[in-house]
Amino acid sequence: MPATYNAAFRLMNNLDLLNRSRAAVWHPCTQMKHHETLPLVPIERGAGPWLYDFDGKRYLDAVSSWWVNLFGHCNPRINAALKDQLDTLEHVILAGFTQRPVVELSERLAQLSGLGHAFYGSDGASATEIALKMSFHYWRNRGRPGKTRFVSLANGYHGETVGALAVTDVAIFKNTYAPLLRAGVQVPTPDWRHAAPGESPRDFAVRRAADLRNHLKKHHHETAALILEPLVQGAAGMGMYHPEYLRLARAACDEFEVHLIADEIAVGFGRTGTFFAHEQAAIRPDFLCLSKGITGGYLPLSAVLTREGVYQAFYHDEMAKGFLHSHSYTGNALACRAALAVLDIFAEDQVIEANRAKTARFNELLTPLANHPRLANFRNSGMIWAFEVNNAPADFARRFFEEGLRREILLRPIGNTVYFMPPYVVGETEMAHLQAAVLDILNQFEK
Ligand SMILES: *Cc1c(COP(=O)(O)O)cnc(C)c1O
Repeated sequence: MPATYNAAFRLMNNLDLLNRSRAAVWHPCTQMKHHETLPLVPIERGAGPWLYDFDGKRYLDAVSSWWVNLFGHCNPRINAALKDQLDTLEHVILAGFTQRPVVELSERLAQLSGLGHAFYGSDGASATEIALKMSFHYWRNRGRPGKTRFVSLANGYHGETVGALAVTDVAIFKNTYAPLLRAGVQVPTPDWRHAAPGESPRDFAVRRAADLRNHLKKHHHETAALILEPLVQGAAGMGMYHPEYLRLARAACDEFEVHLIADEIAVGFGRTGTFFAHEQAAIRPDFLCLSKGITGGYLPLSAVLTREGVYQAFYHDEMAKGFLHSHSYTGNALACRAALAVLDIFAEDQVIEANRAKTARFNELLTPLANHPRLANFRNSGMIWAFEVNNAPADFARRFFEEGLRREILLRPIGNTVYFMPPYVVGETEMAHLQAAVLDILNQFEK
């Protein structure tokens, strides 16, 4: 039992675990040398929105463990579903075989999105790869092999594998690998932080959509798809934009026969206040990429859903016209079962409605932060809050993170942007704690 596993361990030196981790594990998105001075945080267990270390110290997981967790750690309902699945079927090859969780999940995602034919991968970046390849291959199967280019938004993020990185526009991830990447085109972002003084987010979105339309007008012959993050550009520092941009982007894609790929890897599953973010523009993309929250933060899984017309372009007697793409763990039964438990919670607890009420209460509660003179661009979309800290020192993100840990909160600023992306089970007490801690840290920085 895990209890024994950890009890024996607790007797050992914690430091030992950190050193062993530094020696044996190459941690993601990390300059490992920094861990000479910045200790790793050892986590023993999680419960609800809290993580606990081996000394019983706790941390509020205000970033949902990199935006994946929806209903807390060790959620009893997801746990029960997984335990049941574990004793039934853990995994089976999905080529030539099928199983109940993958079928049910695909049906339910289709009901929710109005798209279908779910194709599975194991993480967000692989969903991006799948959508890009499918779009290109669709045009080829339809006799338009010249449509090979992809357009994305400035500051967009779609994952870090070589294909996904080509449509990503975040310098720190991209610059080093530029010689490996196929050139993509970025059109200006509708993120309203870049609006002219006095320009409304909507007017700015309309202006930037005109830039997009101009680009597609010139380049549609060679363009397969536009890929974007609906409403919130996460890795750009929670850059938010008006839904009118999505509506106009959809119209421009229709006008010039270019696919629209909605990367809802971060914003899907209720994050922005609707089940999918693109619903707020009353549009439907041609491809929908999902991951992160799909399993409630339990297991790696991603899915790409598409239109019937796209599927039909691959449905053929000829093998090579099919989508010959695969990942070993495609449609993993355990991961799909976790995803089904997540969808059950959404339905049974009416999570979208409940979150709307929570968002309203939290917005009231966070007024002192919103009005803080040191902060700029306080913004909210569903269960995401973000703001910039003016005059932040160069090592702000790292120092803020360390100060957060001291105050029982886990926050990882992006540059001088602080954001909250808590699991949906977070309560008012915890949000109040979060705000008090952040105000305290900001005062600390002033000294
Ligand atoms: C996280 C993220 C990805 C990549 O997902 P991974 O699972 O980290 O590969 C792609 N797109 C968006 C919008 C993301 O936030």
